[in-house]
Amino acid sequence: MKMLRRWNYDEQVYEPYEVPDDWNVKSYSEDMDEIVNCPHCGRKVTFGSCYTSKKIHTAGGFGYAVCGECYATERIKEEEWRKKQR
Ligand SMILES: [Zn+2]
Repeated sequence: MKMLRRWNYDEQVYEPYEVPDDWNVKSYSEDMDEIVNCPHCGRKVTFGSCYTSKKIHTAGGFGYAVCGECYATERIKEEEWRKKQR
C-alpha cells in the first residue's frame, strides 16, 4: 500500500490514507496525457483532466490529482465545514 495523507476537516488533522501499490497517484506530472488513478475512487484519468485535491496531500503538503467528480465532492465537504464554523 502507498501511504498518503488525508485532511480531516472536522478534526483539523491529517490522517493516514492508503491506496493500492498499483495505483498511479501523482501530485505532479510533466505529461498531461499520463494515466493516473484518482486517489479517492481509483478511476483512471489523464493527468491533464484532473484537479488538485483539497484533501489528499503528499508529505510536503501538495495536493494529489483527483478526478472531477471527486473534486466536486471535496468542495461540497469543505463548504459544509465552513458553514459549521460560522
Ligand atoms: Zn475520483
